[in-house]
Amino acid sequence: MFSFEFFPPRSPEANQRLWRAIREIEALGPSFVSVTYGAGGSTRGMTVETTERIATDTTLLPVAHMTLVEHSVAELRHLIGRLADAGVSNMLAVRGDPPGDPTGEWIPHPQGLTYAEELVRLLKDSGDFCVGVAAFPYKHPRSEDVATDTERFVRKCEAGADYAITQMFFDPEDYLRLRDRVAARGCDVPIIPEVFPVVRTSFIPRSEQLSGAPFPAALAERFASFGDDAAAVRAFGIEYAQRMCERLLDEGAPGIHFITSNQSTATREIYREVAGRRPSGAAGRP
Ligand code: FAD
Repeated sequence: MFSFEFFPPRSPEANQRLWRAIREIEALGPSFVSVTYGAGGSTRGMTVETTERIATDTTLLPVAHMTLVEHSVAELRHLIGRLADAGVSNMLAVRGDPPGDPTGEWIPHPQGLTYAEELVRLLKDSGDFCVGVAAFPYKHPRSEDVATDTERFVRKCEAGADYAITQMFFDPEDYLRLRDRVAARGCDVPIIPEVFPVVRTSFIPRSEQLSGAPFPAALAERFASFGDDAAAVRAFGIEYAQRMCERLLDEGAPGIHFITSNQSTATREIYREVAGRRPSGAAGRP
């Protein structure tokens, strides 16, 4: 199972680039594509529009990310209904981070929900939805410790999640440890590793900001050793991501979820190399 993640475009030009990437990915016949949900503002509408258009104008299976940020339960129900009307039956239920400062205090909407687990229940009670959730190889930054994080993840799965996608990570061992500790709790929800190919060194601090986890120091040094040689950085980043995908698939990961940054070139290069290792699981529900 191979899948690709896009984010909602912020301008007409970005929308054109996104659709070029979507069409290029469509030709690969992935299991699904997902569209992230913005922390607030106009990109949220673009998430819904893009997901609807993928459902109606392409052969791709869309997964809509949904968050709890600044939404009442009534608004969440409305969003679920609108997506369902467009034929979207796959959702990724995540809590979202506080807008502006992702590390700031989490304040739920007064008529909203507090944890992703509650959104999983809302979706499952609302219809026949296939629901994914987030998993964190290093633990979620707000979780007290790894054991507590694992307990809460398993509870989220028990609320009805059908599968999980991880936060990005750069050491395959971190994924394997997560998978093993969840399995040790008797939870067999498939956990799809998310892979983010680093093709520019400026992505490194960005990845730390997005994931809330440190970038491995030895790997950062390796990237730094290429200095200003952008082509060498890109080549090494693609090769590293490819080797990581191969290891994960050889270790029995159910698939790979690629972050595309709305440009399909790097992920298509990696996909071409690793698609032969395709594990069981074809197109259909994630
Ligand atoms: P939760 O599962 O609710 O967990 C949040 C924190 O609360 C954790 O520390 C957890 O341990 C704790 N917790 C959970 N349940 C309880 C409980 N019952 N009691 C006490 N504590 C509890 N963000 C976006 O804004 N848009 C996106 O589209 C988006 N897509 C993502 C996709 C993936 C694959 C991933 C991994 C993350 C994504 N995120 C997205 C980021 C995500 O919203 C944040 O990482 C957020 O901080 C955590 O979301 P969650 O669903 O894991 O939250």
